[in-house]
Amino acid sequence: MTDEPVNQMIAPDVRAYLTQLRIYRFQVVYQFQESAHLPPFKGSMFRGALGAALIRTSCSCIKKSKGSQDFDVTAHEQYCSFGYLFQNEPNLVAQAEHWTTNLANMQKPRPMMINASSQIQRQYEIGDRISIELMLFGDAIEHMPLLVLALKELGEIGVGSHRAKLKLIQVGRLDELGNWAAVVYDGRDDTIRVEHLLPLPLDDILSHPVTTETLMIRYMTPTRLKSEGLLSDKISFAMLFQSAYRRIVSLLAYYHSDSQLPDVALYDQLMKEAKQIEPVTELTQWIELERYSNRQKQKMNLGGVVGMSTFRGDWQRLIAILLLSQWTGIGKSTVFGLGQIKVFFDN
Ligand SMILES: [Zn+2]
Repeated sequence: MTDEPVNQMIAPDVRAYLTQLRIYRFQVVYQFQESAHLPPFKGSMFRGALGAALIRTSCSCIKKSKGSQDFDVTAHEQYCSFGYLFQNEPNLVAQAEHWTTNLANMQKPRPMMINASSQIQRQYEIGDRISIELMLFGDAIEHMPLLVLALKELGEIGVGSHRAKLKLIQVGRLDELGNWAAVVYDGRDDTIRVEHLLPLPLDDILSHPVTTETLMIRYMTPTRLKSEGLLSDKISFAMLFQSAYRRIVSLLAYYHSDSQLPDVALYDQLMKEAKQIEPVTELTQWIELERYSNRQKQKMNLGGVVGMSTFRGDWQRLIAILLLSQWTGIGKSTVFGLGQIKVFFDN
């Protein structure tokens, strides 16, 4: 090894595909109008409530079709915000076929994620605030104005077992560091500022050179990755990379019309490189979370890996994927905030 820092630019062949991705990051701020006792893990609760609110405010297909046979699934999933954001069927987008062999054993991703994992408080009083993070990918941004209406409606419906009501105070756009960048909606004038619906600047993010050989991955929320069909309590670099790459390609394929997909051959080459990356330290553990499924009327376990791992190796062509997966999430159950990772460079 040399004393010179390794000045690794992100490989241009990989970067060109990745910068097509559009990632929108928002913070939603509510104020409690009633006291509430909420579960520690709130992502699935907010997601369920938002789905119910969106059906009320913008989906007429389900109401119209109650009991009848003429439910138009395609219209519901292509044009209706609830269908598009919550219920997408595979195979609606022809472009994805190019990748079907490699994406075959992976579910079509949803174009929206809700993360409330920073909110661990359980008891809230009138006047307390709570904020959740909302991410949208690609073409899903077109549904944001209706989503803001549904976020207001969510407050009217209420959350938790006693349906505590909330007032929507503000929705803001966040930058890549999680800082508030612009107001998208303000409850005081009840106006949506569509000019502030901008994606993260991936061009800038991916043009920083990286000057280290050791990479630290922190699993912020339980991360659920499968190895040979089973959820794994150990995460290798190759597993991490494979999951992140497939997720990004499938988001491009399904939710970015006119995007160019990378060749399957590039994926094979990169996977070979990923398998060469060595673990250095592994300080991780498996933790269980519980959530209540309204649909299945039962408690469900949502365990995953938390903690941190460090890796060493020649990851010049691989790093961009992991940088982006900080905002796309990896593995299963990302829709309500699991699989949130952070990448650190250890000099
Ligand atoms: Zn609908």
